[in-house]
Amino acid sequence: MKILIRGGQVVDPANKRDHQIMDLLLSDGKIAGVGRDLSVDGAKVIDAAGLIIVPGLVDMHTHFREPGQEYKETILSGSRAAASGGFTSVAIMANTQPVTDSSQVIRYVLDRAKRDSAVSIFPIGSVTLGLGGEQLVDVGELVRAGAVALSDDGKPVRDPQIMTQALLLCKEYGIPIISHCEEVAEQYTGWVMNHGEVSSRLGLIGLPNCSEEIMVERDIKLAEDTGAHLHIAHVSTAGSVDLIRRAKERGVNVSAEATPHHFTLTDAAVERYGANAKMNPPLRSQEDVDAVIAGLRDGTIDAIATDHAPHAPDEKALGMGKAPFGIVGLETCVPLVITRLVYKGHLTMFEAVAKMTVEPARVLNLNKGTLSEGADADVTIIDAREERIVDTSRFKSKGRNTPFAGWKLKGWPVITIIGGETVVMGDGCEV
Ligand SMILES: [Zn+2]
Ligand SMILES: [Zn+2]
Repeated sequence: MKILIRGGQVVDPANKRDHQIMDLLLSDGKIAGVGRDLSVDGAKVIDAAGLIIVPGLVDMHTHFREPGQEYKETILSGSRAAASGGFTSVAIMANTQPVTDSSQVIRYVLDRAKRDSAVSIFPIGSVTLGLGGEQLVDVGELVRAGAVALSDDGKPVRDPQIMTQALLLCKEYGIPIISHCEEVAEQYTGWVMNHGEVSSRLGLIGLPNCSEEIMVERDIKLAEDTGAHLHIAHVSTAGSVDLIRRAKERGVNVSAEATPHHFTLTDAAVERYGANAKMNPPLRSQEDVDAVIAGLRDGTIDAIATDHAPHAPDEKALGMGKAPFGIVGLETCVPLVITRLVYKGHLTMFEAVAKMTVEPARVLNLNKGTLSEGADADVTIIDAREERIVDTSRFKSKGRNTPFAGWKLKGWPVITIIGGETVVMGDGCEV
């Protein structure tokens, strides 16, 4: 199949293209040409006048629940949600059942992905067996099977010796460790939200900022010591941003991501949205939100990632106390980024696109996130003027757990092209 995307505004940070009006030719699954006035016989033409053409988006942090909890999400439903949200590549976390701690489970995931997903799926292996925190996985085996990073996400790696060993091995194999930074002191066991005014008012156990920052600081020290690549997941506090900024200044090999919910909402959202505002790390204060945005602006935070965490409605209906942590994010990420960061003047479109394409691809060493000639024909077309209400009944994800239902957002993906073959419209339907 040949596709000619005509007259769009190309925003391709990997090639320093910023709103250049150009045509894009896709052929045999690759980007065959980028230029002006391209024409090809027999190509399917997409008129993209007034639309923004970006590299297929990369989400470096998602949770699909297969194997083990297919009622929450499968690789099939998750990949459809990704495509519908403009993502053509996703890295999926290890906390499935069983955990992706062996080559067999990684191969199972990749086989399923081949069968069920048009979107490219990159598995992340766990750091410790069964996420138990005690026994290190066979790093070489996981890398050979296709793991692009290791992470016990959902949990920290509490033992510094295991973390050190894991960092050294990952350095040897050239992959990052993605750290979920959380050190819970005993008095905060059973926490359900941020520690602050709101938690006191609601009488709920809150987790203080230092719980995250203690672990960010430790892991940065271990990365500095070992020279390994440490990636900090879902940065949520001002102190974490500061620690990462200073570490980067002294040349530590650390990268970081932030989620749309952490740059959009504060812990006040808990009063309004209940368990749909329950996530880990929790929503923080306005000062923290501002610091996360400042970190995105100055490059301290490299990537925007969704931490897409689907749960069944009856699970989230258990309320703040008992509901599981997390919200779905794949189908609201782009409009939140454009509405809350670009239209509010915090990031340019170019910077925002970089944080969802070339930057996460660089962190994970993926050949994705670029519109260079010869690259995979993954392309996302965005209508920055489109205003729409978030309608969870249209989600392709099995999860409906989001605080953003009913929000009016501006700037939506309208066409996602994966490998030059599968064309998904903004409503998630394939054409
Ligand atoms: Zn996490
Ligand atoms: Zn996560």
